[in-house]
Amino acid sequence: MIRGSAAAFAFAFAIAPQAQAADQCDAHKTFAVVAHGGVISKPTEDAGRLAAMKAALTKARAALAKGASTLDVVETIVRTFEDSSMFNAGKGAIVNAAGFVEVDASIMEGHDLRSGSVASMTGIKNPVSAARLVMEKSPHVLMVGDRGEAYVKSLGAAAVTSSYFVNNKKSSAAEHGTVGAVALDRCGHIAAATSTGGFGVKVPGRVGDTPIVGAGVYANDEVGGFSATGHGEIFIRLSIAKDVADRMHYAHQSIDEAIYADIKQKLGAMKEEGALIGVDREGHVATAWSGDGLFRGFATDEEAAVVALHEGPTASKPRH
Ligand code: ASP
Repeated sequence: MIRGSAAAFAFAFAIAPQAQAADQCDAHKTFAVVAHGGVISKPTEDAGRLAAMKAALTKARAALAKGASTLDVVETIVRTFEDSSMFNAGKGAIVNAAGFVEVDASIMEGHDLRSGSVASMTGIKNPVSAARLVMEKSPHVLMVGDRGEAYVKSLGAAAVTSSYFVNNKKSSAAEHGTVGAVALDRCGHIAAATSTGGFGVKVPGRVGDTPIVGAGVYANDEVGGFSATGHGEIFIRLSIAKDVADRMHYAHQSIDEAIYADIKQKLGAMKEEGALIGVDREGHVATAWSGDGLFRGFATDEEAAVVALHEGPTASKPRH
C-alpha cells in the first residue's frame, strides 16, 4: 500500500489493479463496514471528524462493493484517520507525560486468526500499517518500544520524526481517544484494526488495550470482528473484545446482545468509559458505549454510510 495520506484511498481502491485483482472478493452479495473515532466523556460536537468518517466509510462501501478485501479496507480507513490529524492516532496522537507521542495499533483477520500489533512506537507514520507488516512479514504478533520500532522499520514501516506529530505540547489527563474499523468483505472474511495515542499524561511505556488481541481488537470469521475504545486497563482486564465474541460463539447471543451486556451493563455498572463496534458474520453492525458519546459510523451493501456522535443510529437494520 502506498505511503501517503490524500491518495491512500484512491491508490488502494482504484489505482492498484494488481492488488485488487489479487484480493478480489465477490463471492457473496453481503458486506458491511463500521468505524469509530473514539468514545468521549463530555458533550462535544465535531462536524469535521464526522465528515471525515462519512467520507472514509462511503469510499470503503464502494470498495467493498467492487470486491476489496476486508484487510485493505480496515487498514485504509484507519490510515486515513491516522493521517488526518483529527483523531488521537497517528499524526494527531496526543503526547504522554514526558511530552512525546507513543502510539499503539493492531490488526487482526478472522480467516486464519492472524494478528499483528505495535506498542509504544514514537516514530512510525502509520502504526496500523506497521501492525499489518508484523502480521504478514514476521513470525511475531507484537513488537514494542525502540527495538520493536527498529524491527518494523526494517520490515518497511514508514518513519517520521517527532515534528510530524501535530500535538507537540502538553496533554491533559482527560484527553484520550482511539480509531478503529471492522469489515466483512464479499469473500465472507472479517478483519478489525485499532490505533491510538492512548491517554493524555500517560506514563511513558504505558500500553492500553489497543494492541492487545482479545481486548482492543478481535476478529474471527466464524463469529465477527470488534474494535474498542475507552479505558484500556479495564478492556485488558475484562478481555472485552474476546468476551463479546465468546458470548456470541458459545452463548449464542446476538452481536447486539453481547455488546450491550459488556459495554452498557458491565462497564456501565462499573462507571467505566468505553465502547465497542462490531460486525457479525451475517454482516450486521452493532455499536455501544458507556460514556457521553461515540464517534461512529457504518455502511452495508443495503445501507449507505451514516455517522453519529450522540443520538443516531447504533446498529444496521435487521437483514431479511
Ligand atoms: N483505549 C485507549 C487506551 O487505553 C484510549 C481510548 O480509546 O480512549 O489507550
